[in-house]
Amino acid sequence: MTAQQRPAGPPGRLDGRVALVTGGGSGIGRAVVDRYVAEGARVGVLERDAGRAAALTRDHGDLVTVEVGDVRAADAHAASVARTLDAFGRLDAYVANAGVYDYAASFEDMDGFRLTGAFDELFRTNVLGPMLGAHAALPALRLTGGTLIFTVSSSGLYAGGGGTLYVASKHAVIGLIRQLAHELAPEIRVNGVAPGATRTALAGLDALGSAGHRLDERLGRIARHIPLGFVSDADDHAGLYVLLADPRDSRFMTGTVLPSDGGLEVRGG
Ligand code: NAD
Repeated sequence: MTAQQRPAGPPGRLDGRVALVTGGGSGIGRAVVDRYVAEGARVGVLERDAGRAAALTRDHGDLVTVEVGDVRAADAHAASVARTLDAFGRLDAYVANAGVYDYAASFEDMDGFRLTGAFDELFRTNVLGPMLGAHAALPALRLTGGTLIFTVSSSGLYAGGGGTLYVASKHAVIGLIRQLAHELAPEIRVNGVAPGATRTALAGLDALGSAGHRLDERLGRIARHIPLGFVSDADDHAGLYVLLADPRDSRFMTGTVLPSDGGLEVRGG
């Protein structure tokens, strides 16, 4: 059933609200878009993959509006915010979610040339992208007293879930959340969700030849280190993004990161 066919029932938690989600065409971002729509929101998306963009429009019709573009480019963010405002008239929640992974590439084995190329690709996507997006969204969020939400990762909190580049990038996103929460209080709340291992199509890096790698094999090995004993699906995290977008439930939260990782904090030694 598509969200357009949502049966009449109790009001959605996000009725009348508008969100913008980067990387909303796949994985965690797609699960957030689907859940937001199911909760009554209308959603703008910035997504680089045209096929995934088309699938969003096919599944959600005019409840979503999709800009095909790259989060590394400031003008793509300007265009996606403008498109969302044109379509839906306001912006209440901005979800900076698009990201890429380093597939735990060995730091020592990279020469300076590969390290620089990989850094540029990964940090421009995982750190510059969220910064540019937040910057582009702020004027509209100020009009609604809206909120910023960032997809972090358990790699923002712990070592070992990725390589040096990915782990450093996700620690940087936590720094971004904390500083923006400090700068933008009390008007704008700024929080993050830190998923652990999740079955998605998370891409690697062109610079390391890992762009087409698949997470599946890694996730099988990771599962036995997760206290709850399983690898998550993207939808397992979506409710936390609803919570953070819904001021009735999170109006006293800012500068926080909510882990959704099967209990990595309580792993044995
Ligand atoms: P995914 O590849 O399924 O989804 C990411 C989406 O972002 C894709 O549709 C992709 O096309 C898009 N995207 C990637 N780079 C882009 C760019 N430069 N411009 C525009 N769109 C771009 O992967 P996912 O696992 O859902 O990843 C979403 C976020 O979740 C990332 O920030 C990732 O670091 C984070 N995360 C993933 C896991 C996991 O195990 N899968 C765990 C923790 C955190």
